[in-house]
Amino acid sequence: MKNKSIWEELDNNFKMQSIDKDLDIDVLIVGGGITGISVLHQLMLNKIKCVLIDRNKCGYGTTGKSTAKITYLQEDIYGKIKDTLGEKIAQEYLKSQICAVELIQDIVEEYKIDCDFRKVSSYIFTNKNENIKLIQNEYEFLKDRKVEAGLVKEVPFNEECKLAIKVGDTYTFNPLKYIDYFKKLYQSQIYENSKLESFRKVNDYYECLVNGKIVKCKYLVIATHYPYFLKNVMLPIKSYIETSFIGAKKVKEEKLISAINVDNPTISLRYYQNKDINYLIYLLNSKKSANIEDFKTYFKDLKDKGGFTYLWTNNDIITNDYMPLIGTIDKDNSLIIATGYNTWGFTNGTMAGLVIKDTILNNYNPFISLFKPKRGINFKKLKRGLEDGYGNIKAIVKSNNNVNNKNIVGKTIDGKKVWIYKDDMGKEHIVLSKCPHLKCGIVFNETEKTWECLCHGSRFDIDGKCINGPSNYDITFK
Ligand SMILES: Cc1cc2nc3c(=O)[nH]c(=O)nc-3n(C[C@H](O)[C@H](O)[C@H](O)COP(=O)(O)OP(=O)(O)OC[C@H]3O[C@@H](n4cnc5c(N)ncnc54)[C@H](O)[C@@H]3O)c2cc1C
Repeated sequence: MKNKSIWEELDNNFKMQSIDKDLDIDVLIVGGGITGISVLHQLMLNKIKCVLIDRNKCGYGTTGKSTAKITYLQEDIYGKIKDTLGEKIAQEYLKSQICAVELIQDIVEEYKIDCDFRKVSSYIFTNKNENIKLIQNEYEFLKDRKVEAGLVKEVPFNEECKLAIKVGDTYTFNPLKYIDYFKKLYQSQIYENSKLESFRKVNDYYECLVNGKIVKCKYLVIATHYPYFLKNVMLPIKSYIETSFIGAKKVKEEKLISAINVDNPTISLRYYQNKDINYLIYLLNSKKSANIEDFKTYFKDLKDKGGFTYLWTNNDIITNDYMPLIGTIDKDNSLIIATGYNTWGFTNGTMAGLVIKDTILNNYNPFISLFKPKRGINFKKLKRGLEDGYGNIKAIVKSNNNVNNKNIVGKTIDGKKVWIYKDDMGKEHIVLSKCPHLKCGIVFNETEKTWECLCHGSRFDIDGKCINGPSNYDITFK
């Protein structure tokens, strides 16, 4: 059993540079997932002097642990947006997603990117009588907007289904092969193992500290998934983190389909072929991270389905109005974020590329106002915001989460609270007991051997090295 995503198997020993000198540029893009790479591509096409940095390897954050479907059929999202922000916004969101699907297809074709790109039929389905209405409403919404969709009861995958929507013109791919293509194309603009440590505004530019070097830029794009250091974004009350449990197993054939249900527990699936071996990629259970007591239980649900070669988890940010946050957040329109994709990051991250390019060039783009991070608040959003904030607080106070794990003890050493994990070989791994981001408790994920912050999704390896934000710091104990 491999405790990493199937994409992370990619054989890429392609060595990238790290920052070793000061730079003076127009735009610094921080983060090399689908968002950062899409922004870089759009800016390069427009001959803007820009650089992308990633503190690890590009693509190995959330992007490299996803199921990598490219679709505008996204559970019952149009119904949810309609309910929170109204029909017009839901319609604009649909337009943006169709536009993004087409854009990715155009890019893959134009550059002939070898990324196992497949045209597939997408389904959303339910097995519960009480959710049939959700499917019907979503179908009506799509039909009213002239989207070619079918309402079906029979589905070509092995799940019980009472009703489903089927659409064509959607895709799947290998996200790390896609990212790798752009890494090679823009290798002189990309710096890996280069971490943004801090930044400040000086007159009309930003002075950014990256690996001890100074990068001066007019625009700063934070594409770090969770823009942890921007307190004015107020993400903890605009969103919560969701953790999903995923596996990949060998199967006889590669079916050209992808599917997701609208029920609880969440089920999402697609197929993938690598070197003539076919895999089913299967997600079971998506949970508010703050409500997870024990990773084992959810991995057990997955393992009970049998036969997985890979098992892993991934976190994404769910916003309280179901819309991404893409755009400027300061009065000078020079500090830009792109986040909150509600688990639909390939369309939204690609769209972020266009929106941010047009923001910087001052071009008209209808989606700039749709996604603007500083949008208003209404009662429904406020109610969800308070619930999300409460969930996050619960996770902060839940600092005793490892007491049921017999391999872990909590201690105070040199005045610091630590967790000590003893592995199968008897080796001790000591880490600080709080996430550096907002001091939430951390819990050990025995399957992946990672420490997890349940508040905002930071992840650390067994010895405390930060592998996923919002934390920008390790929890290593020295
Ligand atoms: C289980 C699951 C399944 C999903 N499946 C799909 C799907 O099928 N289709 C879909 O469209 N979306 C899917 N998504 C959503 C999608 O994967 C994400 O929304 C998307 O990958 C986010 O991309 P990103 O570039 O914003 O962030 P990331 O991919 O996390 O990239 C952020 C990068 O920033 C870097 N970074 C962080 N801090 C710093 C710093 N201080 N300095 C420098 N670099 C830094 C990190 O190293 C990282 O590489 C899924 C999400 C989950 C959780």
